[in-house]
Amino acid sequence: MLATLARFLDPWEAHVIRARLEADGIPASVAFANHAIVNWPMSIALGGTAVQVPAAFLEQARKILSDYQSGILEDELLEATGTPKEHCPHCGSTDFKRTMPWHERAIAALVSVLVAPFPTRRRKFICRDCGCTWEWG
Ligand SMILES: [Zn+2]
Repeated sequence: MLATLARFLDPWEAHVIRARLEADGIPASVAFANHAIVNWPMSIALGGTAVQVPAAFLEQARKILSDYQSGILEDELLEATGTPKEHCPHCGSTDFKRTMPWHERAIAALVSVLVAPFPTRRRKFICRDCGCTWEWG
């Protein structure tokens, strides 16, 4: 029997989680991803895209999902690939807050009202130590 591990508004994120679970030997699958492609607002109304695993793997999968959401897996990846962790360009602190530039926020709000909600990416950073702001990407 399949159990739903989590639901995502972004079907690509669901596929990333599925691939990560499979890397640990958990036979995961993605359900309802086509709803998001065919009709985004309807997909949200139906609960988004689901990642499902056999019930026997649910606890193991929850631990991996928790590590993903807390950033532990990202830190491990950066360390394994030798990529420097995102940090404040002014003071070097890694204690920062992610946000969205105001113009992207305005576009997202406008599109949400006129057309449909869509996933956004927070790529503006604010340092909690010195208050410096910078953008990524
Ligand atoms: Zn700083």
